[in-house]
Amino acid sequence: MDVKKLFSLEGRRGFITGGAQGIGECLANAFSELGADVAIVDVNQDKAKAAAEKIAGKTKGKVIAYGCDVTSPESVDKMLAAYISDFGRLDYAINNAGICAMDGALEITPKTFESVIDVNLNGVFYTARAAAKQMVAQGGGGSIISTASMSAHIINQPQTIAAYCASKAGVVSLTKGLAVELSKYHIRVNCVSPGYIQTELVASLKDMLGIWLGKMPEGSRLGFPEDLIGAYVFLASDASAWATGSDVVVDGGLYNPLKTAETKKGRPCGRPFAFTVKP
Ligand code: NDP
Repeated sequence: MDVKKLFSLEGRRGFITGGAQGIGECLANAFSELGADVAIVDVNQDKAKAAAEKIAGKTKGKVIAYGCDVTSPESVDKMLAAYISDFGRLDYAINNAGICAMDGALEITPKTFESVIDVNLNGVFYTARAAAKQMVAQGGGGSIISTASMSAHIINQPQTIAAYCASKAGVVSLTKGLAVELSKYHIRVNCVSPGYIQTELVASLKDMLGIWLGKMPEGSRLGFPEDLIGAYVFLASDASAWATGSDVVVDGGLYNPLKTAETKKGRPCGRPFAFTVKP
C-alpha cells in the first residue's frame, strides 16, 4: 500500500467556509501546502480575498476567494456556481463558518438565538446540501466535513452559551443523518469537534482561559488552529475511506467521558495568549 498516497490531497479541489480567518484560514493554508486547490468562502469578501492572496503568495497554489453568507441558500448556490466555473469539480467541502453568542438563556433575544442556529446549523446544512448535490451530479463521491465543537459534548462553563451548544449538537446529529443518506453516492460526511482553540471567536473570553485550562487534564494546554490540521487532512483524504458519520474530537483531553465529576480550580494559562483581539 502507498501510504503517502493514502494521505495525499494533491489535486483535490474544494471549499472552506469561514476560511478568511482562524481555524478556516489555517486549514486553507494547510490544504494548499499539501497540493489541494482551495476556495476560501466567507461572509466578508475582502477579508476572504486578503487571506486567499496571502496563502497563494506563500504556497503558489490555486486559492480563490468567494463572498458568501452561509445562512442564505441563494448565496450558497451562487457561490457554488462561481466555484464550479473556476474549479470544475468538488472533491471536498468544509463547512466551518460559525459564530457564538454569550447572552444567557434568560436574556437572549429570539433574534440572537436564531442567528446562532442560522449560521452554525442551518448554514452547515445549506453548504453541505449544495456540496452533496454537486458531488451526486458529477459522480465519484466526495468528502463533506463540518466543524462541530466540544460544545456538542459538554456544556461550557462559566460562559453561558446554550444556543451555541444546541447548534453544535445539531451539527453532530446532522452529520450522522447526512452520512446515512449520502452513503449510496459514496459521499462521506464527518465532523470535527475541537476543544478551546485560540482564535478571534474566543478573544473576548480571554479572562476565562485559566478556568478552561483547569477543566483539562494536567499537562494539557489550550489549542491552536494548527492542532486541528491532522483531523481535517485525514477526513479529506483517502486515509478515511471507511469513515463516515464520524465525529473526530480534538480537544486536548477536555471531553473525557470517564473522568470523575471533580474539576480542578482554575490555573494560570502558562502560555502567551496567541492572537490579537479585534478592535
Ligand atoms: P472565527 O470567528 O475566527 O472565524 C469564523 C469565520 O466565519 C469568520 O471569518 C466569520 O466572518 C465567518 N462567518 C461568520 N458568519 C458567517 C456567515 N454567515 N457566512 C459565512 N462566513 C461567516 O472562528 P473560529 O475559527 O474559531 O471558528 C471556526 C469554527 O470552529 C466555528 O464553527 C466555531 O464554532 C468552531 N469552533 C471553534 C472553537 C474555538 O475555540 N475557537 C472551538 C470549537 C469549535 P466575520 O468574522 O466577518 O463574521
